[in-house]
Amino acid sequence: MSKVEGVLPAGAELVIIGAGVVGAATAFWTARAGLSPVVLEALPAPASLTTPVSTGAFRLQFDNLEETRLARESVRLFLDFSEITGEDSGPLAVRQPGYLWATTSEDRAEEQRRLAARQHSWGQTDIETLTGDEARRRFPYLSPEVVHARYRAGDGFVDPRALTSCLLRASKAPLHTSCRVVSLRERPSGGFDIGTDQGPIRAEQVVIAAGPFSAKLAALLGEELPLQVRPRHKVVVPDLARVPPDAPMTIDDDTGVHWRPALSGAHVLDAAPRGPDAEPVEDVPTDPDMAFRVLDPSRREAAARISPFWGEAWRRGELSWTVDSGQYTMTPDRRPLIGQTSIEGMWVNSGYSGHGIMCSPAGGRILADLITSRLEDSPFSPHRTFVKRISDHI
Ligand SMILES: Cc1cc2nc3c(=O)[nH]c(=O)nc-3n(C[C@H](O)[C@H](O)[C@H](O)COP(=O)(O)OP(=O)(O)OC[C@H]3O[C@@H](n4cnc5c(N)ncnc54)[C@H](O)[C@@H]3O)c2cc1C
Repeated sequence: MSKVEGVLPAGAELVIIGAGVVGAATAFWTARAGLSPVVLEALPAPASLTTPVSTGAFRLQFDNLEETRLARESVRLFLDFSEITGEDSGPLAVRQPGYLWATTSEDRAEEQRRLAARQHSWGQTDIETLTGDEARRRFPYLSPEVVHARYRAGDGFVDPRALTSCLLRASKAPLHTSCRVVSLRERPSGGFDIGTDQGPIRAEQVVIAAGPFSAKLAALLGEELPLQVRPRHKVVVPDLARVPPDAPMTIDDDTGVHWRPALSGAHVLDAAPRGPDAEPVEDVPTDPDMAFRVLDPSRREAAARISPFWGEAWRRGELSWTVDSGQYTMTPDRRPLIGQTSIEGMWVNSGYSGHGIMCSPAGGRILADLITSRLEDSPFSPHRTFVKRISDHI
């Protein structure tokens, strides 16, 4: 990335507000499409708000074809990163130990088989269904209670902060950090006047990629975006020898609690963002019950339910942890908003729920194609009819 100290330029063809993974993907693909983006970031460094709180997991196991396509294209970028971007792919630390959804319920097992059949019909024929015994043979840490599992070996993990930095660097877009956008006004002659705490900048077009703050920014121009914000937490167990280092993302399909190997231990997360909608904040309060909910084996949803070693570690007092907290930015149908708002020249790329790392690299390409008229429409238009969904936050 070309990090720029000091004065903002007077004007830019395209200003991208936000340097999380979504702003970075937007910068990369708009630059690749021949535009000259300038990125403005409120915090002192890119990837400093939601993006680094993520656990960096990616998968091609979705309950709908549209997001499957987004993730497919994004994963192709992770795997062919050097060829596509010209940047070293090493820092991305891509690993593919897979994603395993395990259930102790026969009803859920039937749902897993039905979903896998749909996923196969979308061309994702590498998704396997396993009996409990087959699953335990491959993943011996699973509980005897597990009766069935769905698994794809090619799913995995990427470093979210490195992905953001590498995309920004590959874009060659000037990046202004500690540069908070405080006002937005349409110019009578077209384009926008953007006020920042480093002074004004004019823009022919603007992309809002401000994560949880996206709706607030759009509201500066009277635009109402269908985005909600909810807290989401990640328990970091930095050191636990019992965690099999090559284990896949292991999800309790009955509760949504999931863990993955990370550092010398694991990340443990629960099902979905809880509680009422929140105001966007930079310092997200931690839920004091979160770690107990997923680590204490006496709790209904604990990770020990399908992976008993977690219970053993708890009982022996082997666990130490911290909790990282961020915010999900979500639309009513839990799919992103990618496209032009009702104000000409003001675009949005946001609302990825729990899928921003695995889907926004393709979302940035779609937005760049829309801005340059290579693409007329997409399933992620801000003007679509939203059908409410509650599942698939993981
Ligand atoms: C606990 C947790 C786990 C997750 N796990 C995964 C996962 O495994 N896989 C996955 O794909 N996704 C995951 N996600 C979701 C993923 O993290 C998000 O979808 C993604 O990071 C959103 O990126 P973003 O760029 O939209 O937002 P952000 O990373 O929040 O970036 C927005 C940027 O805009 C800046 N900004 C805001 N307002 C202004 C302003 N006025 N002026 C200038 N800049 C501004 C902010 O400072 C920020 O840097 C997880 C999320 C959480 C919270």
